[in-house]
Parts: sequence; structure tokens; C-alpha cells
Amino acid sequence: MIEDIATPEPKPGDVLLKVLACGVCRTDLHIVEGDLPPIQPRIIPGHQIVGEVVEGATPDLPVGARVGVSWMGGVDGDCWFCCHGLENLCDHPVFTGYSINGGYAEFATVRTDFTIPLPAGLEDSHVAPLLCAGIIGFRSLRVAGVQRGERVGLFGFGSSASLAIRILQSWNCEVYVVTRGESHRNSARSLGATWVGNEDAKPPVELDRAITFAPSGTVVVSALAALRKAGVVAINAIHLDRMPAFDYDKLLWGERQIRSVANMTRQDARDFLALAHDLNLRPRVVTFSLEDANKALEAVKHETEDGSAVIVVQKSQA
Ligand SMILES: [Zn+2]
Ligand SMILES: [Zn+2]
Repeated sequence: MIEDIATPEPKPGDVLLKVLACGVCRTDLHIVEGDLPPIQPRIIPGHQIVGEVVEGATPDLPVGARVGVSWMGGVDGDCWFCCHGLENLCDHPVFTGYSINGGYAEFATVRTDFTIPLPAGLEDSHVAPLLCAGIIGFRSLRVAGVQRGERVGLFGFGSSASLAIRILQSWNCEVYVVTRGESHRNSARSLGATWVGNEDAKPPVELDRAITFAPSGTVVVSALAALRKAGVVAINAIHLDRMPAFDYDKLLWGERQIRSVANMTRQDARDFLALAHDLNLRPRVVTFSLEDANKALEAVKHETEDGSAVIVVQKSQA
């Protein structure tokens, strides 16, 4: 539903952004469809915001500065997790587009200390998918403990995986992609995957690490079955349909690990965006107008587009 609302007022410590573009993420779909329990009675989704500072400027963030906003919209800063370098697991987090209004809008207010400086030279629509798909994909590689030169499986090949493969290549990793959909397999081949197979195929070698991107527990079990001893599966999904029973003796024994990947830290965001700049990452995007936000969500749901869906709200002045 689209409607006119008052421009939000920034509170102390916030900036008001004019939204230029906002990426569309599968999590938005989980929020809109109720797979994630609602926190607010009404919410504006969207947590891959590229915006321009309009109000609440600071010396570091002058009016007109272009910044990014991700899923992490704030933390308390003093819980056990915040004090141990795990602000992604904060006990009192603020999630953009879930616990506070997000970027499917003309304006958004966000905490100044949770805005992300953006590399110059990238178009708004190209930056947007980096802010969740990109950062979380990068964190997934960290959680999986990927080392240079290892054999890494990517199970599912959408927005996040197509950015992660570029990082893995820069680390000289062999990348094995298992995914349904011919277009996703073609996309993996065109990005130089070492090996590509469909959802029933098993990589021809034992993997050191695997990252799953599909919201499916069956895919997690397939990934586990492809691991060497002491290998790690990192699950890049905020919601799974169900986790099927599996054979512990065959699949998990041997110190294999399954880990979830939850949210991101500001350090992940900074490190990833620096890497994205060095690698000149330009995700393939499909743009939608704000009026067509529901069509963008449909495209993510049915995986009809070969590229990350981005809502372009207005053109930047720069
Ligand atoms: Zn997201
Ligand atoms: Zn905290």
C-alpha cells in the first residue's frame, strides 16, 4: 500500500535523509508476508538505503553527503555482545525497515552513527545491493572461516552469492555453485565459477566451506553432505522453511559445523565496502519505481529477474 505521510522529524543523534535508492531484500519479503513476527503495527520496509543528508548535518556528514544505511539501524552499545565485538547480536537492536521505518519512501530518519560512508564513483542503484546482500555475504565468508585458496561451495546463487563469488576469486578460492534455475547457473558460469550444478548435484570434490543462501533447510543438509571433516556451513538466511532431520554419524560427525549468520557489524560494512571499491564491484541490478515496490517484492519472491532488485526513488543532485 502506498500513501502520503508527513516527512519524519529527526531526533537528536539522527539525520534526515532524502532517499535516492533502496535495495529490495528477501528479508523485506519475510517481513511483508509475516514470516518474521511484526514488531510494529505498520512499517515501511527497506534496509539497503542510499540517501543524501538533508537535516541533522554534522561536520563529518554535511548537507548533501551521500551515505548508506543497512539492516543494523542501531544498538544499545553496552550489552555483553556489544562489549565483545558482536554488535550484530546486540540484545536491544534497531533494525531498519523492521523495528523502525526504512527506505521504501522519499525520506528516512536514521541514527547518524549507523550511516555508512559510501565509496565515490558507484551509481546509487549499484551501491544499494551492496548494503545488505553484499555485506551479509561478506560476513558469511567470515563466519564460515574461509581461507585463501580454499574450496568453497555457494548453495543458491542470487544477489548475495553473485557478490561473494567475486571476493572469493580475489582470494584465489575455487568456487563450486549448486543452484536451481538455469539463469542462476548461467550467471554463476559467466562469473567464472569453477564448477556449477543443479540442486540435486553434488560438487565433485569435498568442500572446505559452504555458504547456503536459499531459505531452505534441505539446502543446508545438501551443503553439509558436501563438506570435508572439520568443514563449516554458514547459513545466510534470516528464516528457513524447516530443518529436516539428518544423519549425524554421516553428516555432522568429524567436527563439521553448521553456523547461522546474523546481521552484520559496522566493521563488516566498512571492510566490505572498501573491498567492493578495490574490486570495482558493480552488481547487476533491475530497477523499479517507488510506485512499483510490490512488483519489486514479487520479482524477489519468484526470482524472475537476473539481478538485484532496486527501487530508485529520486536522482542524486551530484
Ligand atoms: Zn537484507
Ligand atoms: Zn548491545
